[in-house]
Amino acid sequence: MKSYEKLLLENKAWAAEQVGKDPEYFSRLSHLQTPEFLWIGCSDSRVPANEITNTAPGEIFVHRNIANMVVHTDLNMLSVLQYAVQVLKVKHIIVCGHYGCGGVRAALSHQDLGLINKWLRNIKDVYYFHKDELQGLEGDARVDRLTELNVQEQVMNLAKTSIVQMAWRSENRPTLHGWVYRLTDGILHNLIRMDPNTSIDPVYTYD
Ligand SMILES: [Zn+2]
Repeated sequence: MKSYEKLLLENKAWAAEQVGKDPEYFSRLSHLQTPEFLWIGCSDSRVPANEITNTAPGEIFVHRNIANMVVHTDLNMLSVLQYAVQVLKVKHIIVCGHYGCGGVRAALSHQDLGLINKWLRNIKDVYYFHKDELQGLEGDARVDRLTELNVQEQVMNLAKTSIVQMAWRSENRPTLHGWVYRLTDGILHNLIRMDPNTSIDPVYTYD
């Protein structure tokens, strides 16, 4: 059997298992999704949002990209954000990074990687903002600290969007969270939380 054929076979087994436990499982989920959370995570295959939070389909709206970035010109991310905030009315947005992130590591290198240089450039800018602190670190310690600072900056980037600011003003939600996941023990750590209407630099605020 080819590897992708196994996926289709496993899917049938999984679907049967869910119905076995709860006959209404799919009919209920097919009607409506009301997730409380938007997850912005890394595409890394080892950091799947539902599995590591032990949540079921329907509980988390997910966007993933390389190094869990919130780039203000990224129409894909912004569309997900707008839908999650304005239509699904999520209460929490979680930016989740992870130690050992290949994207963060690549951003610290000098290798010309082609198109992805442009994406990694956003992480290089985070390094530049915090270079006084990061220059004092070496190897994995530097990568790990940049990973944490990158998560914090991406949470700040969410707060700088008119989408989040509008929901903060009119509905006092969502709360923004920055977490980091450790691949070696499976534990999530809380780095930063921004409650609705946390003040940010006025240059980034919208009426
Ligand atoms: Zn990663």
